[in-house]
Amino acid sequence: HWRSVASVFGIARMSTTASHTSFPARLPNLIGGEFVESKSKSSIEVLNPATQEVVSMIPLTTHKEFKAAVSAANKAFPSWKNTPVTVRQRVMLKLQELIRRDMDKIALNITTEQGKTLKDAHGDVFRGLEVVEHSCGMASVQMGEFCPNIANGVDTYYVREPLGVCAGICPFNFPAMIPLWMFPVAVTCGNTFVMKPSEKDPGASMILAELAMEAGLPDGVLNIVHGTHDIVNEICDDEDIKAISFVGSTNAGRHIYSRGTAKYKRVQSNMGAKNHALIMPDANMDAALNAVASAGFGAAGQRCMALGVAIFVGSSKSWEEELVKRAKALKVNAGIVPDTDLGPVISKESKARIHRLIQSAVDDGAKLLLDGRDIVVPGYENGNFIGPTILTNVNTNMESYKEEIFGPVIQCMNVDTLEEGIDIISKNRYGNGGSIFTSSGIAARKFQAEVDQGQVGINVAIPVPLPFFSFTGSKDSFAGDLNFYGKAGMHFYTKMKTVIQQWKGLSGQGVCLAMPTK
Ligand code: NAD
Repeated sequence: HWRSVASVFGIARMSTTASHTSFPARLPNLIGGEFVESKSKSSIEVLNPATQEVVSMIPLTTHKEFKAAVSAANKAFPSWKNTPVTVRQRVMLKLQELIRRDMDKIALNITTEQGKTLKDAHGDVFRGLEVVEHSCGMASVQMGEFCPNIANGVDTYYVREPLGVCAGICPFNFPAMIPLWMFPVAVTCGNTFVMKPSEKDPGASMILAELAMEAGLPDGVLNIVHGTHDIVNEICDDEDIKAISFVGSTNAGRHIYSRGTAKYKRVQSNMGAKNHALIMPDANMDAALNAVASAGFGAAGQRCMALGVAIFVGSSKSWEEELVKRAKALKVNAGIVPDTDLGPVISKESKARIHRLIQSAVDDGAKLLLDGRDIVVPGYENGNFIGPTILTNVNTNMESYKEEIFGPVIQCMNVDTLEEGIDIISKNRYGNGGSIFTSSGIAARKFQAEVDQGQVGINVAIPVPLPFFSFTGSKDSFAGDLNFYGKAGMHFYTKMKTVIQQWKGLSGQGVCLAMPTK
């Protein structure tokens, strides 16, 4: 059934206009290796944000179907756990090959459902692909430790074992990368997985799951259930699910963290953000402003590491006009149109929220240097477009500063000293990342040491680590103890078992009731 649905989508997804709207098929769930249609009577439409075209629909999965998915994952666990890690790695080796083969197809689906440009959609897949590549070396990453002869004839070692059924709850902004932050690491560690894609752009998860099965992932190791809040709450409450990986907004993440941990599950929760750039007057102006514009307006500002605040220190304030020039040169259009720099934001609601926050900044005394609110894109008049917007004279009391805007808006502030800038960034409730632009090693080192942010960029606007490190947001941007991917990701999906063994001649020792001391 899924293949026939997919062929319909093949047509619908290729379309960039509203002319193919007659095939909005409903996506199946993936349960125990089968793509099965939900019996639910409730559906949600997946819309192309550039056109409002209905691309597909998702079902609000029923309780019974959710339980069937968890049960399939449970059933698959014992044999998958006992499958040698080398075999599990080989599935990932094949998966990375298949993702490369189908990169264009996945990227096109992302552009159609999420709106970002095709080039950026390729980046979305590529950054997830790197996690698959890293998972190919999981045997080395998860090796235990051994200490021989800690007492007479006694050795101690520990091994890492998978947890069982794990679950993932995904946001809309990286439809391929974030599912790939989760299930490749989880399953290569020997777990089985139940994934809930974002209801706004589930297509990439479906393609990735199909590829994982083609790569040899056994039935039931990866399952997909569609839905929204109810299915998320089911995931939090289910006794058989041992761990939850969440990426999304702070409100949802805190709810899931509290509800999941109340059921004694492990939860890693990557949440909202407000990322700052601190621009020193000794920075390379051209490089700094190019980086700030790229990180502020890329993906229409809908990245968790989007750079929403630029703090100009001292005389660098005069560079604001140069930033405006760069912003004005950017092309806003449907992501499918070649040479587009910014696509639409995800939904009409999101556009309205961003407009409201821009207006609130103006009402609170900020000055608009560039207003992208009235933009109309010929041929895509129904799209959720917002042009690059720059505000200045922003301060920390403004609602627009306190809230995550998640749109193509850069808010500029001015301070006299490096210390003042560090203070503002450190006091922000979010801790995903902060960057300094400077040619002074002394300023950079001070910034790195003193700023209270989980990820620091030095002349780098989006300091996101590759998968051999971990994604290390902090404060209101993260809840949990073990971060995504890298060693921490492997630790999250495994538990330690310590073994103490004694192999020596045991005769003639007698009974000894005291604690051994040698
Ligand atoms: P969202 O929180 O609205 O949705 C994320 C997921 O949670 C979805 O699957 C959704 O169905 C579910 N959900 C939403 N509200 C819920 C609720 N009240 N109860 C139960 N489930 C709920 O987030 P989004 O709009 O899809 O994504 C954007 C957000 O994600 C931004 O805040 C962004 O900063 C954040 N994000 C963070 C990172 C990171 O690594 N820190 C990465 C990407 C995105």
